[in-house]
Amino acid sequence: MIPAPSHLAGELDRLRAAHLYRTPRVLEGPQGPRPRIDGRRLLAFCSNDYLGLANHPQVIAAFKRGADTYGVGSGAAHLITGHSAAHQALEEELADFTGRPRALLFATGYMANLGVISALAGRGDQVCEDRLNHASLLDGALLSRARLRRYAHADPRALAPLLDGTGARLIATDGVFSMDGDLAPLPELAALAQGADAWLLVDDAHGLGVLGAEGRGSLAHFGLGPEQVPILVGTLGKALGTAGAFVAGSRELIETLIQRARSYIFTTAPPPAVAEATRESLRIARRESWRRERLQALIRRFRAGAAELGLPLMDSATPIQPLVAGTARQALSWSSRLEALGILVSAIRPPTVPEGSARLRITFSAAHQEQDVDQLLEALDSLGYRNNDNRGTILCRK
Ligand code: PMP
Repeated sequence: MIPAPSHLAGELDRLRAAHLYRTPRVLEGPQGPRPRIDGRRLLAFCSNDYLGLANHPQVIAAFKRGADTYGVGSGAAHLITGHSAAHQALEEELADFTGRPRALLFATGYMANLGVISALAGRGDQVCEDRLNHASLLDGALLSRARLRRYAHADPRALAPLLDGTGARLIATDGVFSMDGDLAPLPELAALAQGADAWLLVDDAHGLGVLGAEGRGSLAHFGLGPEQVPILVGTLGKALGTAGAFVAGSRELIETLIQRARSYIFTTAPPPAVAEATRESLRIARRESWRRERLQALIRRFRAGAAELGLPLMDSATPIQPLVAGTARQALSWSSRLEALGILVSAIRPPTVPEGSARLRITFSAAHQEQDVDQLLEALDSLGYRNNDNRGTILCRK
């Protein structure tokens, strides 16, 4: 129901009282392990800049060259006159990176997911999604007007019965779950999809750049190719450190998206300079495997230290290492106590995560140092998790 204009202030008060109110923090410089935020330098563990490329000198130089060559704005949608040689080259390089015939750029990952799902599915169809999928995958299904059926997290046995019956089907899943850090059971999902003649879409926003040889992501981690996973969505604003997203797949799939994906057709193409910057960050991400190795070393160090402290780790081998607090109030309280110690880890609360599983979403970057991890562990220990009354309410998921 639309709240009456006179009721909005009351709605906001209700969110505040429930510890669910959100406010953006103001960065006064580049992204990195020690950003200056609201006038203070903090040691931060909450960006998705996993490889430390958002402020890389070569990526910045490519961005500047791109602006010199193409100006700032693209000036039009891709299908009018906004599609530059920089966009074209990036699409070809992303197709090569993902081992697929074609890739298509979108302005954001959110728009890519809305676009691809609503281009393929419609009224009378069925879209099956993991319960913990990113909001943009769920919203894509809602926008398509297909029937959205959610299955238990990472559970192929819960998906199987949904695939009985007829009708075009699409299965969509995060590759690495954005708030939990665990991997989807992609081989099992792919087998089910093939058996049911259904599309499988993997949104590998948090796997690309981080997992697999050359950072080719969750699919490379499991040894899966385009036959098993025909639709791959990737984002550029996380490990690649820039902005935007792409869908990679067959020629026919990409041509269909060009004709039908409304979030591709009806929007201005992103600045070509961002595409130039991404071409450079993609080259660095593929070549510099030391960044992935360093990230894994930091994750191992954190997990070993956290286990020693008795912190309840979730089953994650990725840079996303959540610490579940339970209530929104508890997560906020931990976050502000860490901040008092000079450490920034944001509290993630419902509806981003299910009720009762508010958490600190700790993320690591190849730009962090080992001492940073130790400082974080020391600070976490001081939260007194071991005596936390809230433990009973923690949802433990595999
Ligand atoms: N998919 C997943 C799994 C994500 O985590 C995100 C971003 N949080 C997106 C899509 C959206 O990407 P973007 O930020 O480029 O809109």
